[in-house]
Amino acid sequence: MTFSYGGYAGRYAEVDLTAGRVHVREMEREWARLCLGGTGVAAKILWERTGPQTDPLGPDNVLVVGTGPLTGVMFSPAGRMMFASKSPLTGIWGESHVGGFFGPEMKYAGFDFVIVTGRSPRPVYLLLQDGEAELRDAHHLWGRETGETTQMIREEIADPTVKTAVIGPAGENGVLYGCIIVDQYRAAGRTGMGTVMGSKNLKAIAATGSLPIEAHDMERYLEANGQEMERLRDPLWTDSLASLRKYGTTDLVAIINEIGRLPTKNHWTGYFEHAEDIGPEVIAERYRLTQEACYGCAIGCKYVYRVRGGRFAGGPAGGPEYETIMAFGSNCLNNDIESVMYLGHRCDQLGMDTISCGKSISFAMELWEKGILGPDDTDGLSLEWGNVDTMTELVERIARREGHLATLLAQGTRRAAEVIGGDAWRYAIHCKGLEASGQDPRAHQSVGLTYATNVRGADHLRSLSSLEELGYPEIVIKRFGREKADEILNIMSPKYKGELIWDMENLYAVVDSAVICKYGTMWPPVYYYETFANVLPPLTGMSEWGDVRYVIDAGRRISHLRRAYNHRLGITREDETLPHRLLKEPMPTGPAKGGLPDLDQMLDEYYEFRGCDPKTGLPRRDRLEQLGLGFVAEELATMGLLAG
Ligand code: SF4
Repeated sequence: MTFSYGGYAGRYAEVDLTAGRVHVREMEREWARLCLGGTGVAAKILWERTGPQTDPLGPDNVLVVGTGPLTGVMFSPAGRMMFASKSPLTGIWGESHVGGFFGPEMKYAGFDFVIVTGRSPRPVYLLLQDGEAELRDAHHLWGRETGETTQMIREEIADPTVKTAVIGPAGENGVLYGCIIVDQYRAAGRTGMGTVMGSKNLKAIAATGSLPIEAHDMERYLEANGQEMERLRDPLWTDSLASLRKYGTTDLVAIINEIGRLPTKNHWTGYFEHAEDIGPEVIAERYRLTQEACYGCAIGCKYVYRVRGGRFAGGPAGGPEYETIMAFGSNCLNNDIESVMYLGHRCDQLGMDTISCGKSISFAMELWEKGILGPDDTDGLSLEWGNVDTMTELVERIARREGHLATLLAQGTRRAAEVIGGDAWRYAIHCKGLEASGQDPRAHQSVGLTYATNVRGADHLRSLSSLEELGYPEIVIKRFGREKADEILNIMSPKYKGELIWDMENLYAVVDSAVICKYGTMWPPVYYYETFANVLPPLTGMSEWGDVRYVIDAGRRISHLRRAYNHRLGITREDETLPHRLLKEPMPTGPAKGGLPDLDQMLDEYYEFRGCDPKTGLPRRDRLEQLGLGFVAEELATMGLLAG
């Protein structure tokens, strides 16, 4: 092989489902050098192979399954991988990351990436095994839930090391937020990547293998890795890591409610008076079974639980995670934690994103309250706040697109509001078509900018800053200078938040290309660009990645490339905004009462740092060319989409 970089498996599988053929190819050196892996490489592939003419649910859409050089090697946390495609939910850039063990196993099976095109005439699954890739019949798996599908594949392959990424009925049935369940308990939840698999008749991907992943210079790599692991033990981070370990993401219910940022009653407010009922202690004490960290993770925030009796008895199941508790709990005014866990578990089994599903239900509940939806519109369901009977019934119906209301909600809130008409749009809490995750920007200015500029929509995972939320003055001073520190650390000040979020987006672009978990980078903020400059050269042998400036530029390059993908689909500053409620209605109650984001001020600053025209949000040619994206500049120029 001429691809000789360490840290990579060195191959990718090109899967043409229409023809039923798989080609195994050598990894491209250019992908690794310019975009590293994960989201960066996916951006390059999707830029080249999809565009305005691509139907997200058509055979011409492309699904990229990706890992990075830090996936599955000795680094913590290194169990992550990702899926990317043109999103059927939003019609723009779609991407979803997940932990567990599938990513590392995919590399041990010999593959850094899988590129899936076409549509199979019948259900199939893909098996990756020791450098080989084959399509197998999956007609017997079609229609089955994710847990059962996972078990059947494990039995069929009869290899205890096999790891799986599967879809459920929701992805098969065209629910636009179908997710992919990895290793039984983990969800690649957002932007409908499971629906793309369903549209291609691809039920699952399974991986098993024992091929080694070599480091370019093992001795130096172990030394660099040891230095970074040591940083995790710094007393500065000890408290955050201890609570993350003890409670997982459920800890956030209490932390976020305390600052008034917990979406409640379809984002009407950011404070839930019954938060304790759905909070971390209750879950840990009554329902927890065991911890189940992702591959090689020294943090370990994942748990498995069971509800032992009563109406919502069930499990074992993964989580529950903060976002699921928010979506089916506070945001639906539901403080029955057992029902919340049940609904999350059903979504996992049916293969649906809990955030988009829960938000679609809270949207419908508010329309019911406002009289926009009545009994004639809901197929006999009563949609009062916190009605768990309705919620459990709706989740099942949405996954199967049964009835008028469920079929509407299966399309997400933006499309449902368009169909319903009237004032319904006011209550659809999304950006660019993606339902908002569990952060209210009226309680945290920079979240507003994060949501508005995120390439996949209203979601925190492309650039959320926890620096001002949790207060790390030493880190802020080191990264942004003493003179900006007070404003940056003020959660309600919009000043310097453009620079802050620009930097976070660049950093996370590298994190998502490496590919590692956000914990350790976002909360607590242990790793920064220097981490990658320390570990990547001895791991990969690419010396340029040892220059911190090169790492930062890679983050900027990848961010621009994903943004350009969206510009080509018509996204401009006009679309980089917030839902009406979060932009115009001051927070009515709670610790953040009266808060509103100053989005325009933050956007102006963000565009300046990003090198974009503040009027349109479009990039400048010189910025793209500096970052090695001349080919992007050329294409945008021919479409009239380049800033002057
Ligand atoms: S911190 Fe949690 S989500 Fe991240 S890799 Fe570790 S166990 Fe998985």
